Amino acid sequence: MDCIFCQIVAGKVPSKIVYQDAEVIVFPDINPKAPIHLLIASKKHIPSLAHLSEAELPLIAHMVNIANRLAKEKSISERGYRLVANCGEEGGQLVPHLHIHLLGGKKLKDAPN
Ligand code: AMP
Ligand code: ZN
Repeated sequence: MDCIFCQIVAGKVPSKIVYQDAEVIVFPDINPKAPIHLLIASKKHIPSLAHLSEAELPLIAHMVNIANRLAKEKSISERGYRLVANCGEEGGQLVPHLHIHLLGGKKLKDAPN
């Protein structure tokens, strides 16, 4: 098990867990690009969006719902925020374990890259 996010899920790598339930775990990005930069990750090891089965699509809705809820809790819901899911090498994905970035707390640059 050399996946860093699986190790966070298993509690083998410490992280300040912001939220978790049976499907999802949320923790701060170790290299934040904005005042609020959280990662909403699946607990199950799914390598990327490209590996999601149709049956797993509700997981993405759940992850977006959690991101929206956290944005409200962090008081950035009205100001605006960005959800990003990098997919694969050319998509800039560094950690091959499904996750969505929640970025906010400042005016983000136009391009997500
Ligand atoms: P990406 O796969 O490109 O969507 O981005 C992976 C993100 O995971 C990067 O923004 C990293 O800073 C972040 N990251 C890598 N290792 C850790 C870790 N141990 N804890 C928190 N965030 C991490
Ligand atoms: Zn994993």
